[in-house]
Amino acid sequence: MYKKNEGIRNVAVLCAILLIFGIALFGCFGQIRNSLQQQLMSSIEGMAEQNEILIEKEVSTRFRLLSSLAREFSDGDESIFVDRLQGFVETYQFKRMGYIASDGIAQTTDGYHLDMSDRETFRQSMQGKQRLTDTFEDQIDGSDEIVNAFSVPVYEKDQKTVKGVLFATGRYEMFEGCLQNEIFEGQAFNYIVKMDGMIIAASGNSREWGIGKNIFTADISADENDDAAKSRMISDMKSGKSGYGMDPKRKEVSLYYYMPLKIEETGDEWYVVTAASESVLTNRMQVVMDAINSLIVIILVIISVSVGVYIYSWRKSKKELISLAYQDPVTLGDNFAAFKEKAKSKKDGAGWLAAMDLADFKLINSTCGVKKGDEVLRAVSEIFENEKGDNELVAHVNADRFVLFWMEENQDAIKERLERVIKKIEEIPERLEIPNLFPVFGIYHTMVLDEIDPLYGNAVLAKHQIKGRRDRHYMFYDELNHESIQENRELEDHFEMALEKEEFEIWYQPKYSAHTRKLVGAEALVRWRRQDGSLIPPLKFIPLFERNGNIIRLDEYVFRAVCRQQKAWQEQGQKMFPVSVNISRVSLYYSNVVEKYESIIRSYDLDSKYIQLEITESATIDNNEIFNLLEQFHTAGFKILLDDFGSGYSSLSTLNRMHFDTIKLDKSLVDYIGDDNGEKLLNSITKLAQSFGMEITAEGVETVEQLMFLCNLDCDDIQGYYFSRPLPVREYEECLKEACM
Ligand code: C2E
Ligand code: CA
Ligand code: CA
Repeated sequence: MYKKNEGIRNVAVLCAILLIFGIALFGCFGQIRNSLQQQLMSSIEGMAEQNEILIEKEVSTRFRLLSSLAREFSDGDESIFVDRLQGFVETYQFKRMGYIASDGIAQTTDGYHLDMSDRETFRQSMQGKQRLTDTFEDQIDGSDEIVNAFSVPVYEKDQKTVKGVLFATGRYEMFEGCLQNEIFEGQAFNYIVKMDGMIIAASGNSREWGIGKNIFTADISADENDDAAKSRMISDMKSGKSGYGMDPKRKEVSLYYYMPLKIEETGDEWYVVTAASESVLTNRMQVVMDAINSLIVIILVIISVSVGVYIYSWRKSKKELISLAYQDPVTLGDNFAAFKEKAKSKKDGAGWLAAMDLADFKLINSTCGVKKGDEVLRAVSEIFENEKGDNELVAHVNADRFVLFWMEENQDAIKERLERVIKKIEEIPERLEIPNLFPVFGIYHTMVLDEIDPLYGNAVLAKHQIKGRRDRHYMFYDELNHESIQENRELEDHFEMALEKEEFEIWYQPKYSAHTRKLVGAEALVRWRRQDGSLIPPLKFIPLFERNGNIIRLDEYVFRAVCRQQKAWQEQGQKMFPVSVNISRVSLYYSNVVEKYESIIRSYDLDSKYIQLEITESATIDNNEIFNLLEQFHTAGFKILLDDFGSGYSSLSTLNRMHFDTIKLDKSLVDYIGDDNGEKLLNSITKLAQSFGMEITAEGVETVEQLMFLCNLDCDDIQGYYFSRPLPVREYEECLKEACM
């Protein structure tokens, strides 16, 4: 009943959605990482540029000072130079300043006299160059402090010959102060590096590299695989270019940027290098990741909730669909489809399949209302549900039809259960204040429950045998079996012969006026006189011939015979009474039926007022064309009687829709007499029919009580055993004669 595949499909769709989501997220991460990296790179570059500007500014400021002092000293007395310098040492954050005379003897602001003639700086400045040295350890005072030296030439007055060198010793802190590291929470590192890779200065936070180390040989791009980056850096530096490098394996300097410092005094050999550790990237990534993670959690929650809601509503709608497909809307129990599904999945299919309906249920619907009808169906369903045992089934098929599957060892046990439910069903009318109910069951014994339709068909067949008889509530398929099937076949086979040999006899059942108790006419009823003299009642062969279509010829035969008989009585000078002839609904289906009957009656030169036609109401339900047919029959002069009114298929609405001249109250209605609700029903039906100007004939009147009640209702005619059974033609002729007296 339930499709597993649908569930699997939904889970697959869900997984696909999650997968797509995951892939999208992964791609997203990559992009975020790239853009973060780029951002980082440009920050590093920006920082390097800042460093460059600062360093260049600091250096040039100092050279400007030294240059202007040198100019001042060109015509001064060398002995006072040092005193003159004293005031600038502190201001420019030098460790010391000094003057070296052309013989190489230096005098410093901190009181040293020493020979510096072998110093490279001295030599170069003596040649007219300004110099800035690399960092070195201060040997003059023996402190080993890291310092560097600025030197400028001091010219003679003529500005051509160098007479000495002015120098200043810079403190390492000056560079350190220039090498900013506030960005990236101190995870950025700055260096001043010589072209050959030697580190001249490093920012204070630098742990891995220090002064004196070489970034090429010692560290950056130590990874052998990244030799390319290293050689690029080397060649870039040689040609004064700036550039990036990256080595994620290195902690402190996984990203770095290098750019040349434009300081002529160093021979343009200095570079500033800024590096950031991998942790900066990962930390930043972490922040983004945290945000994304919260986003994912939120999205997952939203997805889960939506999926939950979706699955819930999907299940709900599936349940609704299943209940639509398998639940009976009236009883809310199983419908026939559910019955079949459950039967299919049953392992043990041996048991009894019963088809059940309620005789005259239609009448309850039309007289007490559909709501009441539904109540009755629910009450019946409840009785069956209560009676249902484990592994047994019950369902409402449609209208007043139910199907049951009971499991019992033998017929007697089934009969016992049937009696029990029948008794309960017969208790419903009193409770719901409706006319009597007459349940009818057909039961088929089966060993397997695979295809329900043929089994149900057999049960229905059995039920039909007793339908409308009101003498039995149930019939087992086995009972009707071979005997009647065989009999039916025999009757079918002999139909042609019987027509030819005129084996069909017409009997006449007289109808009497309810008021005068005098004969008013008769109904023609067919019987089959077999060769052996036995007489077969119409209920044995009419339904059979209705099924195989022979009824069309039989009805016509009876109609012809009655016309012939009436004509004969007319010619004999008998008093004429109308005779009604039954026309099966099957006969009404063939075309030109009205012309046919009209031409027959004309052929006997008989007035159509002597022949009436009885049509059952089921015909009116099956054939909408009947309305036109009735008009045509009327035009042809026939009176039309609505036969069997109240026997199951009746519907009060027919009365105003169709133009019938007379309604014939079915015996089942007449049998209600004596029952309170039934009598009320009869009362309202007759009132209604009379209000439409119809005459009423009561059928099956057997007792004087029934007669009296019907007289009181102002019924017109009475037909029934109380007055007379159907009579062979000779006996009916006696009645005719009596009527003349
Ligand atoms: P129907 O047209 O309702 O005919 C009335 C039936 O009720 C007759 O049964 C009649 O014998 C029976 N009946 C009349 N009064 C009483 C009574 O007081 N008590 C009881 N228990 N029964 C009573 P019958 O003659 O056996 O006919 C049965 C049915 O066969 C008819 O029911 C009619 O539907 C059909 N039938 C008979 N002759 C023809 C025919 O020529 N053509 C067609 N199409 N159907 C026919
Ligand atoms: Ca009839
Ligand atoms: Ca009837």
